[in-house]
Amino acid sequence: MIQAPRGTYDILPESAARNVVEEQARRKAVEERAEKILGAAGYRRIETPAFEATEVFARGVGEATDIVQKEMYTFDDGGGRSLTLRPEGTAPVCRAYLQHGMRKLALPVKLWYLSTFFRAEAPQRGRYRQFWQVGAEAIGSDKPETDAELIVLLADLLDALGVSHDRLRLSSLGTPETRAEYREELKAFLRAHEDELAEEVRNRIELNPMRAFDADDARTRAVMRDAPKLLDRLAPGDAEHFAQVRSLLDEAGISYELDPTLVRGLDYYTRTVFEFTSDELGAQSGLGGGGRYDGLIELLDGPPTPAVGWAAGVERMLLSARDLAPPAELVDLYVALAEPAGSLTAFELALEARRAGLQTQLELAGRSLKGQLKHADRIGARFVAIVGDNGHVSLKDMGSGEQRELTTSDVIPAILRGRHTQA
Ligand code: AMP
Repeated sequence: MIQAPRGTYDILPESAARNVVEEQARRKAVEERAEKILGAAGYRRIETPAFEATEVFARGVGEATDIVQKEMYTFDDGGGRSLTLRPEGTAPVCRAYLQHGMRKLALPVKLWYLSTFFRAEAPQRGRYRQFWQVGAEAIGSDKPETDAELIVLLADLLDALGVSHDRLRLSSLGTPETRAEYREELKAFLRAHEDELAEEVRNRIELNPMRAFDADDARTRAVMRDAPKLLDRLAPGDAEHFAQVRSLLDEAGISYELDPTLVRGLDYYTRTVFEFTSDELGAQSGLGGGGRYDGLIELLDGPPTPAVGWAAGVERMLLSARDLAPPAELVDLYVALAEPAGSLTAFELALEARRAGLQTQLELAGRSLKGQLKHADRIGARFVAIVGDNGHVSLKDMGSGEQRELTTSDVIPAILRGRHTQA
């Protein structure tokens, strides 16, 4: 049998395996809560194409990152132009911001998205090759309140979904200049300890020395404990910005851990970076994170524009969301057939009932009358209209068991009245 490609999955109306990631109703709940929480704060939804010119990511995410080096699905469009399935949302949103002249709008421009992303990673629990993220971006403000507001909004979303987030790691990466100086200092430190580092780290000293803080290797980790930390090297303006973000979070009652080794997978971050994690998730513990990316719009040929945002993994939220029981599906009316001769009447009754706003299903499987009543019961229908052969209908109230003989035209008014009295 042909299977969905490795690292992808189907979203099903209902997952037989009780696989919480696959269930449409739970995903809808994530969408609704994101819409409510972000919409209430003035964030408006955006959707960009599933693929972009490759340079959007090569420039916007950074040539040296894992994403660009080994995780992108890149292809030729047939005309010699390189396209890439989007591996993340921030660079495309900034591309759209520039393309549509959004800087003429009232700033900051606040946008959110719920979209699919693609990364050629090794699949495991919580890690897919096609996955979904909810993301939010505020473009055009350098105020620490914007950073803090966004962090609080993500915390609120996780809380609204009943997702336990054990930790919020927080740090600041300063400006590119500070980082460049710090990089040299760190590279010198790493070179001085070259013999003690894992091979992978050693090979990347020049390209991406910050990654050394991410290494799993025990000896490397021991070395890194004494490595110089960027947080201790921040320029006064950045240190002050970070202090304000922290005090706003304190004010909001959000607890966090300062983690000077927090390295995000994307190159474009400046100043604030953060990540929410959940221990319940195992190896892939990152729920969502983000930070400030004051230099990104310039990398995409725009004017200097401060901005901050985050993205959270929908699958990871679904895996740890406790309060996400899918809402019960309502069926007001099931139109059953007692005699084959009544099939046209039944068909028309179902259409009319739907137009009158009733959630209506029509018998389509040729079941016996007994089978139809059983099925109507199983799907939780409140009423069953049993259509006979000459316009006569028995309307059965499945709650009380009461059954009445009606003419076809009386069925819908009777149900609407019943609904009215119940409400
Ligand atoms: P990132 O864009 O790498 O900062 O990722 C933000 C969030 O997206 C992570 O915290 C995860 O929750 C989620 N995420 C990233 N990559 C994947 C993936 N391959 N599969 C599922 N979720 C992912």
